[in-house]
Amino acid sequence: MRRLLRSPLWLALLIGAVIPALGLSDPVGQGYWNVCYKLFHESAPASIVVVNSDDIADMGTAGQTQLFDLVRGAKPARLFIDTKLQRGVTKDQVAALRAAIARLSPDTAFVSRARKFDQFDRAAFDFPDPAVIGAHPVVLSAWTVNMFHYVESGPSAIAIDGTVRPVLATELAHLPARPEQTIYPDFAIDPSSVTTFSARHLLDGQVPASALAGKQVVIAGSGQGTNPNYFGQGPVSPVVLDIAGAVSMRKPWPFTTMQLPLLALVALVLALARRQPRRRLAYSALVVLVLVVPAVLRTVGIVCYPDAAICAMVAFAAIRLWQKRVRKIQHTSASGLPNMLALSNSELPPGRDVVVAAIARYDEMLATLPQDLHDECARQIARRIAVACEATELYHADGGHFAWTEEARPLDMQLSHLEGLRALFASPVMVGTHTFDINIHFGLDRNEGVKTATRVNSALASSNEALANGRAIELFEAHRLAEAPWELSLHSRIDEGLRDGDIWLAYQAQWDIATNRICGAEALIRWNHPTRGAIAPNAFILQAERAGRIDALTYWVLDQAITAALAINAKGERFQMSVNLSAQMVDKPDLVGNFAAIVARRGVDPTLITVEVTETSAVGNRPAAVHNLTRLRQIGFRLSIDDFGTGEASLAYLADLPSDELKLDRCFVSRIVTSPRDRAIVASTIGLAHALGQTVVAEGIEDAATLALLRQMGCDYAQGFYLGRPQPFVVFEREYTARRQRQSGAI
Ligand code: C2E
Ligand code: CA
Ligand code: CA
Repeated sequence: MRRLLRSPLWLALLIGAVIPALGLSDPVGQGYWNVCYKLFHESAPASIVVVNSDDIADMGTAGQTQLFDLVRGAKPARLFIDTKLQRGVTKDQVAALRAAIARLSPDTAFVSRARKFDQFDRAAFDFPDPAVIGAHPVVLSAWTVNMFHYVESGPSAIAIDGTVRPVLATELAHLPARPEQTIYPDFAIDPSSVTTFSARHLLDGQVPASALAGKQVVIAGSGQGTNPNYFGQGPVSPVVLDIAGAVSMRKPWPFTTMQLPLLALVALVLALARRQPRRRLAYSALVVLVLVVPAVLRTVGIVCYPDAAICAMVAFAAIRLWQKRVRKIQHTSASGLPNMLALSNSELPPGRDVVVAAIARYDEMLATLPQDLHDECARQIARRIAVACEATELYHADGGHFAWTEEARPLDMQLSHLEGLRALFASPVMVGTHTFDINIHFGLDRNEGVKTATRVNSALASSNEALANGRAIELFEAHRLAEAPWELSLHSRIDEGLRDGDIWLAYQAQWDIATNRICGAEALIRWNHPTRGAIAPNAFILQAERAGRIDALTYWVLDQAITAALAINAKGERFQMSVNLSAQMVDKPDLVGNFAAIVARRGVDPTLITVEVTETSAVGNRPAAVHNLTRLRQIGFRLSIDDFGTGEASLAYLADLPSDELKLDRCFVSRIVTSPRDRAIVASTIGLAHALGQTVVAEGIEDAATLALLRQMGCDYAQGFYLGRPQPFVVFEREYTARRQRQSGAI
C-alpha cells in the first residue's frame, strides 16, 4: 500500500477518485463547463415559444383573461402556464379568469417550480388552487445546483403524494415521465435565442397571435423564486433551463457516463506512457482528450464529467514537478554540480562509455583551502575536464571524483583520449591564490547494456583502483561484474575452503646446485573449489586481498608450512621452508607480532623459514614495510626478494632491505639459453647478490641446459618443473625420503 502511494500514478488516481467523491471537485467542473459553454452556442428550438407576461402584470386578472383567450385562439400545439395567477379585485374578474382557464384546451398545464434548488419533496412546491385551474394538469420544475449555484441537473419526473408528475422539460420534449431519469440541460442553448414575445405586444396586436400557432407556448413570468445560474451565462430566466433540458433529452444518446471512463483513460495513458521516450506527447494528447471529449460528447447527449480526470492529471503533474524538484536537490553536490546519483539515475543513450576521474589527495587539497573555496576547487577541475571532453554534463561526488560519459570510441582511441586529458592537468590549477598540481586517475566502464548505476559504480571502483595502483587508467572488465557476487562472498568461502580442505599447500623442491640435494621447498597455495574447479593462486590471492582475507590466509599458510618443515627437519637434514608474503600485508602493523607468535607457538626455529616478498608498488607504506621486514629478519626469519628484476624498484628495494636471498624471476631464467641479454642480466645479478652477501635462487627452470648454465654462472639454488613440480605434502615427502635413502640425489 505504501509503495502504491509512493507512485505518482496511483496517488494521482486516488486523488482523482476521492476529491469528486467528497464533492470537492465543483470548482473544476464549474470552470470547465463555464468555459465550454462560452465557446459552444446553439439556438433554441423554434417550436417552443415563450410569452413573457411580466409586462401585463399591471392589468391584473383582466390582462391574464385576455391573454389566455388570445393564446387559445392562436391554436398552439400545447400551452404551459408558468406564471402566477392574478388574485383579482372583484368576484367578476375572478370568475372571468376561471372561465378563461376553463376554456383552455384540457392539456394546458400549469407549472409549479420548486421554491429552492435541490429540493424535490411536497414542501418544495406550491400547487395552484384546483378551484382555479380545474382539471388542468400540473407539471413541475426542479433543479440541483453545484456549490456556486449553477444548475447541473434535475429529475425528469417527481413522485409527490404517490403521483408521478413530469417536469416541464420532459413535457416540452414529448417524453414519458420516468422518475429515475436525470436531465442534464444542454447549456449550449443560447438563452437569447429563445423565441420570446411580450404579452402586451400580443394583446395590442404588435405581434400577431398567429406567431403562436402550432408552437409549444410557455406563458412565463418572473417572480417565482430566485433565478438559476446557467453555465456560460450566469442567471437566466428559469424557463430557459426547461427548454435546455428538453433539448438535451431529445439528443441521440441522452445518458451520463459519470466520471469513471475518463479517469480510466487517464490511468491507462499515464501508465502506458510512463517509461516511453515520447511521453510528453502522450501527456499533451491526454490533456486535450480530457478537455475536449466531455464537451464533444455533450453535443450528442452523452454527459461525461471531467472533474475526476482533471483532478488526477493535475495531481499527477504536481507530484511529478515536486518529485523533480526534490530530485534536483538530491542530485546536486555541494559544489553545485550534479552528483553521481544524478548520473546513476539517468538513462544513458547507446554508444556511451562511463568515465570516472579520481583526483589524488583531493581531501588534502581541500584541507589547505578556506571553506569558501572548496566549491570553486571542484568547479575549476570540472572546467578543465570539460575543455577536453565533449561531455555536456559533469557529475561530481564529494571526495574528488568526477564522472561523465564519452562516446564509445575504439579502446585504444579512448585510452589515448584519456591520456590526453591527463596531459591537460600537467599545468597546475589555480584556486584563489592557491596553486595545485593535479594528479588524475581514470576508471573506465564500457559495459553497455548494464544498468547505469552499476556502470557508474564500476567506473568509480576502477578509478579508485587506478588511484591506489598509481595507474593512469583502469578499465572495468565486464567479467568482473559476473565475478562480483563471488568476490563479495569470498570472505566466507575462503573460511569454508580452509575448513573443508579445498584449500591446501603444494610444495615445490628447491635444490642446492653445488651438492645436488634438495635443501628446501616453497609452499604454494592451491584451491580446488568444489564447483569452480582449480583456482589459480594468482587469481584468488588478488581476490583475497580485495576481500580483506589475505591475513588469515597467510597465517594459515605459515602454520601449515611450519608443520611440513618440522616433519622433514625431524628426519635429520636441515630443510628450509619458503612462504610467500603478499605485498598487501608487508606494511601491516600486526604482521611481525603475529609471525613471531606463530613460530613461538609452534616451537620452530625461525631461521628455517624463508619469507618471500615481491617488490611491487602495491606496498602502501614503504617505510613501514621496510621496518617490518627488518624486524622479521631480526627475529630470525630469512628474507627473500621474490621475482627479482620485474618490479619497478628492485635496486632501491635491495638497498633498503637487508635481505638474505634474491629469487631470479622466471622470465629471465627461462630465456638465458637463447637470449645473451637475459644471460648477462642473470650473470650480473648473481654477481651483485653475492657481492652483497646474498644467495641466489633461480626459479622456473624447465630444462637441463638452463640448469647447467646457471650452475656455470655460480647460482646457488634451483627451482623449477624440471627439478620437481609443486606436489601435495605426502607425495613430496615420499619422494624426498626415497631420494635421501638412495643417498645419491644426483640431478
Ligand atoms: P611465485 O611465488 O613466483 O611462485 C612460483 C610460481 O611459479 C608457482 O606458480 C609455481 O608453480 C610456478 N613454477 C615453478 N616452477 C616453474 C617452472 O619450471 N615453469 C613454470 N612455468 N612455472 C613454474 P603458482 O603456484 O601458480 O603460484 C603463483 C603465484 O601465486 C606465486 O608466484 C605467488 O606469488 C602466489 N602465491 C602462491 N602461494 C601463495 C601464498 O601462500 N601466499 C601468497 N601471498 N602468494 C602465493
Ligand atoms: Ca614465491
Ligand atoms: Ca617468483
